[in-house]
Amino acid sequence: MPNNKTWFLTHAHLWTPKGMRKNVSIQISGKQFGKLTTSSKKGLDVSSHYVLPGLIDLHVNGTAACDLSKDPKESLQRFSKQMALRGVTTYLPTLISTPLKKLIPELERLNQSWDANSLGATPLGLHLEGPFIATERKGAHSTHAIASLSEANLKKVLNAAGKRIKMMTLAPEKDPKGTGVRFLKKQGILPAMGHSNATYKQASRAVDLGYRYATHIFNAMAPWHHRQPGLAGAAMLNNQVYCEAIPDGNHLNFSILDMLYKIKEKDKLILASDEWIGFNKNINKDWKLHSGAIRTVKKGDLVGSGTSLLKGIQKWAKRSKRDWTALIPLVTINPSQYLGLSNKIGTIECGKQADFVVVTKDLDVRMTVVRGEVVYIHPQFRHKLTDQTNTR
Ligand SMILES: [Zn+2]
Repeated sequence: MPNNKTWFLTHAHLWTPKGMRKNVSIQISGKQFGKLTTSSKKGLDVSSHYVLPGLIDLHVNGTAACDLSKDPKESLQRFSKQMALRGVTTYLPTLISTPLKKLIPELERLNQSWDANSLGATPLGLHLEGPFIATERKGAHSTHAIASLSEANLKKVLNAAGKRIKMMTLAPEKDPKGTGVRFLKKQGILPAMGHSNATYKQASRAVDLGYRYATHIFNAMAPWHHRQPGLAGAAMLNNQVYCEAIPDGNHLNFSILDMLYKIKEKDKLILASDEWIGFNKNINKDWKLHSGAIRTVKKGDLVGSGTSLLKGIQKWAKRSKRDWTALIPLVTINPSQYLGLSNKIGTIECGKQADFVVVTKDLDVRMTVVRGEVVYIHPQFRHKLTDQTNTR
């Protein structure tokens, strides 16, 4: 059904890159934002709430209810709904290292059942985290799943996935001549450095070859040492590289996040959740959720996060006594620029895609809208919906 309706949010506290604007009327025309005015029109009154651009999560995993290896179509739909609940409007469902024998048919199935217009956040494409990673920095990935980074293996993966892969995290030292990275870039896939044992020199060379992203900086890479700066040092120092950080308080000490915020270019810092959506300890019996992180039961190794992006932002802002509004670009504008989509998503401006989220001052999600359609509304907010808004 074409979505051609025009409706308004009124009395909004609107987040913009230049600061908060109060008492704004936001027009939504079909799939796009219309005019932003201060005049009060009839519409959905969101006074005492904040309106933010929809969040973009470049690194988020599915488990249990959203296991993409099983019934991929339904799983992707559930995944997208779960993301909408978290205020995320665009995301890259992420697959960790899987043996190629298993990964190839999984990707084929996913490719065939992909539906980017699901009733929730938009899955832009897959983020493959592995299997072309370094055994020494595999973290919780299985050693048996790791594959050699050759053009032949890359071709197998890409052929199976069709055009579904958007981003790939790999260990650049496994591809010293850059054959793999050149191939990926030609296919429009964004190469990221991660689960890597690269030295500073190797990582700097990788940047020259075209890598522009460091996945969960400081995690699954050589520790940052004052005489061996490694991948973390190269990523922080090179102003072309985006540094992805996970703000759950487990992957990084909050003081390290503060340090990163201080020294990294503000437009090159991205927060990702690395959350395991749908984690269920009764199904994932080898893992446990502890203090906002997912860890292995046996050794307590960090597997990923149990904290959403907004909750992570709230935690970090509170710990650093920083206004959370300062951190919003790290989950909106910056990832949109990395994806090359800043003309379409990442800010609320006339003519851009109407992706936004309405939150309380404590960053609890009240409503999520994707391409002009309400995809999540909190029960306490439902009464506010008038017939001017369109749900489905
Ligand atoms: Zn990882």
